Amino acid sequence: MASRTYRAEAIVLRAVDLGEADRILVLFTRRFGKVHVVAKGIRRATSRMAGHAEPLTHATYQLARGRELDVLTGAEARAIYPSLRDDLVRIAAGWYVAELADRFTVERGPAAPLFDLLETALRHLDAGHPPALVCRWFDLHVLDRAGFRPEVADCVVCRDRLEERENAWSAVAGGAVCAGCASHAGGPALSVRALKSFRYLLAHDFASASLLRVDERLALELERHLRLFVQHVLDREVTAARLIDEIRALPPRPAPIVAS
Ligand SMILES: [Zn+2]
Repeated sequence: MASRTYRAEAIVLRAVDLGEADRILVLFTRRFGKVHVVAKGIRRATSRMAGHAEPLTHATYQLARGRELDVLTGAEARAIYPSLRDDLVRIAAGWYVAELADRFTVERGPAAPLFDLLETALRHLDAGHPPALVCRWFDLHVLDRAGFRPEVADCVVCRDRLEERENAWSAVAGGAVCAGCASHAGGPALSVRALKSFRYLLAHDFASASLLRVDERLALELERHLRLFVQHVLDREVTAARLIDEIRALPPRPAPIVAS
């Protein structure tokens, strides 16, 4: 008979309160894919595991097989990403990558490469890399691994090699569209810098991708194109993307008063 308990390295994608003191956790496990589990009594002040039941926690969880949902029985933290939690922009980026990981996986469908991608993104957000760059790198690689790699080498319509000039972007067609095809198949303009950035980010792991210098204007262009693309593939809006917009629209924080 199979053992009733098992261990799983996982990242908490979401948590939903249940009843008085319980919580359903959506765990993205490295080995078994996405799993819904119940954490009993986790919201009581005395719970030893409360710190491991927050979204964006990376831990090894001990789980017991249950009739419907498996039950959390123990946890050892691997990473809690403290710097990420200290900063509104960073935590919103963390929620964004976790939401995409959630949307691009199915229950109990093993997805170790996607798990590693999420772990890499969270670790680098925590280490202080620009959140927008981490998110765009994640967008491209999650699309690639899920089988929706955007076409950025050749025109997605006529298959001619894309020239270094302003082209166009079409989420519906699946990537970059040459200037010739843009009039009938293109969407928004795609700058040369954005095209080159997409090629570079797709071709590299994050250590190399982090060397890319992206100014604010380019970052917004990359975000706009990939948001269209991801929304088209998922056929829905990404909730955390709206949160990122709302945070961006907040008035800048006043400068701290320095005593003289
Ligand atoms: Zn074309």
